[in-house]
Amino acid sequence: MAEIVFGPVPSRRLGRSLGINNIPPPKRCSYSCIYCQLGATKILTVERSRFYDTEILRKALGEKLIEIDEDEFDYITFVPDGEPTLDESLGEHVKAIRELSDKPIAILTNSTLISKEDVRGDLMEFNLVSIKLDAASEKVWKRINRPHPSLNLEEILDGMRIFRRDFSGKLISETMLIDGVNSERSEIGRIAEELSKIEPDKAYIAIPTRPPAESWVKPADEEKLVESYEIFSESLGRDRVELLIGYEGAGFKLGGDPIKDLLSIATIHPIRLDYAHQILSKSIQNPDELIERLVDLGEIRLVEYRGRTFLVRRRERREG
Ligand code: SF4
Repeated sequence: MAEIVFGPVPSRRLGRSLGINNIPPPKRCSYSCIYCQLGATKILTVERSRFYDTEILRKALGEKLIEIDEDEFDYITFVPDGEPTLDESLGEHVKAIRELSDKPIAILTNSTLISKEDVRGDLMEFNLVSIKLDAASEKVWKRINRPHPSLNLEEILDGMRIFRRDFSGKLISETMLIDGVNSERSEIGRIAEELSKIEPDKAYIAIPTRPPAESWVKPADEEKLVESYEIFSESLGRDRVELLIGYEGAGFKLGGDPIKDLLSIATIHPIRLDYAHQILSKSIQNPDELIERLVDLGEIRLVEYRGRTFLVRRRERREG
């Protein structure tokens, strides 16, 4: 049987998370995303059900909290083998967790059920909610997320906007960029426009870094990452957009090693070449030479976008 409480596990967005797996296998979801790292959806459904009794969660979490120190993690995060809002006991679970720990509670949801009032009510209990928006046009949405036939994209977008209006916690969004599927400039523009109406505190642009459900799925390339970053930034503001391309940047400390500083920034934002020069020239005599070396080593790529050169961290390369 899968463990209901696991970790702590490192997370780029949330620091270290103590994970809650509230949906037992087989994988149950309202989407069957082509890039899902959990493989194909075994039960495609929009029906909410009860899985674990809240007392089981309370006991498992209580035991875990005796084993580990509270400062070993930053969030308690619902990140199950499927879609966590399919759990009808979600709200009760969160209340039980609050009785055991003062840590902020987060959830990573595909947001397909967010137009339902009971689901929004449960999500309101969280400190941080991460929603998914991979497409803003019907055709692309169906291709990338392969939704349950009863779902409606407009309703989901409406639900997201209503939730944003009422939710006082931190709302973040994630958009997974798949080469040739949702990576067209026009689609990125539409997604950015929808996100600007939802106003997430942070919008992440991600690429798959683990084996996807469909073997033909390819992550968007660096050119597309820079383009999407720029389009999102125009709609949402630069400080609200970040890349999630599989590198753990958190270990780098700004102000120490200039190369690490540069790579650490390039991991989450494409950097204009002139700005990279500025950073490096404070401590290095020949920034051009160093940048060339980092390109040769495959650490970064130089990408032209609208007459400017950007330096971007290369996508994570997998073995094999
Ligand atoms: S929503 Fe999440 S769990 Fe469901 S299929 Fe997509 S990536 Fe997988």
